[in-house]
Amino acid sequence: MLTCRQATQLLSEQQDRQLVFKEQSALQFHVMMCRSCRRFGKQMKILSLLTKEFKKVDEVKND
Ligand SMILES: [Zn+2]
Repeated sequence: MLTCRQATQLLSEQQDRQLVFKEQSALQFHVMMCRSCRRFGKQMKILSLLTKEFKKVDEVKND
């Protein structure tokens, strides 16, 4: 089982790269068992959505 440190590391890495199947399943398992990493994962998702929105706005500005 992953430590919380490894799990949060993977959660942030998956914003930038595709996790391999082994990492993905280990991460999913950890998140299922661990409430704080589940919360962290949710925040990462929201954060990446916001970042994407900001990027869109920037692109429009630069156009
Ligand atoms: Zn955890």
